[in-house]
Amino acid sequence: MIDWNAIGAEAAELLSGYLQIKSINPPGDERAAAEYLDGVLRARGLTATRYASAPNRVNLVARLRGDGSKPPILLYHHMDVVAADPARWSCDPFGGEVRDGYVWGRGAIDMKGMGIMQALALDLLQHHQPQRTRDIILLAAADEEKGSVYGVQWMLAHHWPELAAEYVWDEGSFGLQDFFGPMPVFAISVAEKKDLWLRLVAHGEPGHSGMPHAANAADILLRALERVKQLDARYVLHPVVQRMFAQIGAALPYPKSFLLQHLDNPLVFRLAQPTLTADPTIAAMLKDTLSITVLRAGGKENVIPDRAEATLDLRLLPDHEPETVMATLRQLIADPRVTIEIIQAPAAAAVSDVNSEFYRTLTAVLKRLTPGCVTAPMLTPGTTDSCFFRRMGVNSYGLFPAIIDPGELARFHGIDERISIKNLRLGTRIFYEVLSAMTR
Ligand SMILES: [Zn+2]
Repeated sequence: MIDWNAIGAEAAELLSGYLQIKSINPPGDERAAAEYLDGVLRARGLTATRYASAPNRVNLVARLRGDGSKPPILLYHHMDVVAADPARWSCDPFGGEVRDGYVWGRGAIDMKGMGIMQALALDLLQHHQPQRTRDIILLAAADEEKGSVYGVQWMLAHHWPELAAEYVWDEGSFGLQDFFGPMPVFAISVAEKKDLWLRLVAHGEPGHSGMPHAANAADILLRALERVKQLDARYVLHPVVQRMFAQIGAALPYPKSFLLQHLDNPLVFRLAQPTLTADPTIAAMLKDTLSITVLRAGGKENVIPDRAEATLDLRLLPDHEPETVMATLRQLIADPRVTIEIIQAPAAAAVSDVNSEFYRTLTAVLKRLTPGCVTAPMLTPGTTDSCFFRRMGVNSYGLFPAIIDPGELARFHGIDERISIKNLRLGTRIFYEVLSAMTR
């Protein structure tokens, strides 16, 4: 029998130590964090290998062997965290304080807490399930908060054979309570948006600003920007999002249940749109978003600029192609004086299988350990390292196995980030039970 209360306490203590390491990115330095994790694993008889991608940048890989009759599962987390302003926190963001049933600190839910759950689950697995069909790989990555160039991208380019897995378990969402209803909804990310960065350049004629003319590049650009914003109101229902709403809808009372379960009907979809899209996170799952992020024109008070440019940050749905979206933008702008340049185009995005053995096992464990919960696939509006694994043909699933409400989620990259000991216990147990079932 496993004493889960003792495991929760052990997780809190280990996480407290992990949160005290300032692995802030930028600048990015994971050496101390990797050293700490290595110690945690070594104390439990597990050994890890460190891979330096740059002088201060380290990735760590541990492997619990199985008999190899099935391919490995990879548990992913990143060791780096975003900055925290101590003046705005109620405690030291790097103090690792344990208070009121919570472990406080930057990285608690993004995502060192999940790393500790994984390490403890690995230890439990080696003791309680000596016969295992699969290797379990633990990857503690660098540089996720700044593009993963020194982290997963580097690891996949240089050490793919060590990481080749059938499934990856990554972050991406949580068990969300009081978002859709009182019941926790474990939204398992199986796909994500992809970034397309474009530069609009308006070409005009210079002149004296005391005698305005019709070819002011700033005017041309403003008109174009007004038009491209129409893209933002074009809602579509991706199959993953449809399935998510249908499964959440099944747990809600009428008429919400009816609406959410019939969004594939264009009439119902249009009827539900104002309510659904009132939430920016939901809205972002239903369209290609467009944000104007940089504007540049002119250099002198009394000179009409002949060139003006704007940077657009577009986040496309997984099955939308950059060329098609750019063609739509050209159509909307309908002005040959405005050109569109690609700053950065996304690689093709894959969607992970919602009928795989891993997905079915994960949802079964979640339902057993959290009676009354809902499980649903989700499309992450942001980006995670899963996109790199999916490009390698791996089914990657994003779920931080903890139940949190909107107030707790606001602490993610925010102030007073924390995780409850109850969640550390639950999450470790979810990891353990899933791995146990998957390695039988
Ligand atoms: Zn993260």
